Amino acid sequence: MKLTNKRIEYTDSGRPYIIYIRQSGRYKGTSKKCYGKIFKCKKCQELSFVRYGKINRKEYYCKHCAYTIHKHNWKGGRVKDSNGYIKIYSPNHKNTNSNKYIFEHRLVMEKKLGRLLSSKERIHHKNGIRDDNRTKNLRLFKNDSEHYKWHYKEKEDSFNLLLLYFMMNKTRMEKL
Ligand SMILES: [Zn+2]
Ligand SMILES: [Zn+2]
Repeated sequence: MKLTNKRIEYTDSGRPYIIYIRQSGRYKGTSKKCYGKIFKCKKCQELSFVRYGKINRKEYYCKHCAYTIHKHNWKGGRVKDSNGYIKIYSPNHKNTNSNKYIFEHRLVMEKKLGRLLSSKERIHHKNGIRDDNRTKNLRLFKNDSEHYKWHYKEKEDSFNLLLLYFMMNKTRMEKL
C-alpha cells in the first residue's frame, strides 16, 4: 500500500475521512472521500481508520495484530462442526462449499478410492463416532437409499431411530 494514494485527513469540525487517489487508468488523479472513525488497536494501541460501512464491532485490532492473532488461532483448517463432524479447509477442492470447507470423512474416502465422490454418495461411520475418520471406520454407500437399506438390514432398531431422525431433520441426514 502506497501512502501517496491513500491518506487520512480531517474536516474542519474534526471528522476523519480517508482519501483515495486513483493511480492509473482513465480517471487517474481523481479522489474519493470515505468517512469513518479512528480506532485504537486493542493490543498495540496503534490508531487505525475504519470506514463507516465496515464498522460492525466495538473493538478493533490494527492490521498487523489481526494477522498475528489469526495466525495463532489457525489450527491448520481442521474444525468440528455443530453436528460433531470434522471439516477441513480445502479451498482448491472441486466440491468445496462456499466457506471452502469439506467433510474430512469424504476426503479420507476420496483418498482411499483415488477419485472424487459424487454428491449422491454417502459415507457411513461404522462405530457411530462422527469424528472417527480412520479409513477402517468408514464405509461408502452409493446413495441415501443404499445407506438406509444397510441400517435396516444390519440393525433394525437403529434404522427406526435413523428414520425418525431423518424425518426430523433431512438436511442433517444428508451429511451422514
Ligand atoms: Zn495492533
Ligand atoms: Zn450410516
